[in-house]
Amino acid sequence: MSFSLGLPWVSNGRTTVSGLISKVIPFSCVDGPGNRFVIFLQGCNFNCKNCHNPQTINFCNHCGDCVEQCPSEALSLNDGKISWNSRQCESCDQCLDICPVNSSPMVEEKTVEELLQQIRVASPFIDGITLSGGEATVQLKFVKAFFTAVKNDSALNHLTCLIDSNGYLPLSAWKSVLPVMDGAMIDLKAMDADLHKWLTGRDNFRVFQTIEYLASVSKLIEVRLLIIPNINDTAEEKMAVKDYLSSLNTNINIKVNAFSNKAVKGEAIDWLSLSEEKKALYLQSINR
Ligand code: SF4
Ligand code: SF4
Repeated sequence: MSFSLGLPWVSNGRTTVSGLISKVIPFSCVDGPGNRFVIFLQGCNFNCKNCHNPQTINFCNHCGDCVEQCPSEALSLNDGKISWNSRQCESCDQCLDICPVNSSPMVEEKTVEELLQQIRVASPFIDGITLSGGEATVQLKFVKAFFTAVKNDSALNHLTCLIDSNGYLPLSAWKSVLPVMDGAMIDLKAMDADLHKWLTGRDNFRVFQTIEYLASVSKLIEVRLLIIPNINDTAEEKMAVKDYLSSLNTNINIKVNAFSNKAVKGEAIDWLSLSEEKKALYLQSINR
């Protein structure tokens, strides 16, 4: 069976769709409200200097460079396609370090139905499902098909369907997913347009549009701030964040995350980490 990203085919009389999945966590309490089943989708349209999971940014081009690097012979190249043997893998991450395009050979193609089967096992213990990434909306066809399948499943449709996003999706696309999405958590990486572009490679115009639109239709669950000392915690940024958040409904949760220079690459390795104490002070200073 050939793979088409997010495109449907018919199997056993059922239309199904597959996505490229970098990781699944059956129980998480940090990816939205309550206990959640989290699916991390591969691919991102930002290129953040401070990315903690750079191997989720790009799609594998099957160059095969990582095969020889694997000490456990868990990787092979078959018919020009990388193949990962999870049973042999020892999670050393050497393949991630060597990949020249910030990808991973351990990404798996999973159908909506395969994921639903995993969720049925976890469902007595969870409040909902979060699609994260990478940037989940890069695989929008999969996102819509997956949430539609959850909402159409009488045993699962009590679960909330949330997206964890960088907010870059255009409004027309948000509108198309809204009927099957219960809400979203949106990252606000910087208020200043130039700073945002320097940090992420993209401007923040669409991020503001997303936040304001989702807030207006009561689908904005949380705004997330990742605070990096001396980069986006200046007095001007802080004041701009405070003013902007004050314009939003106070029911919307604001979450401050502390930057850590562990697990980053490039120049961000030399950036300062934010202590828990300074994180608490920051949160206090932007209190609405
Ligand atoms: S994961 Fe990276 S190194 Fe390995 S085959 Fe894919 S693109 Fe090449
Ligand atoms: S993480 Fe797994 S697949 Fe990658 S190099 Fe290590 S053992 Fe091999």
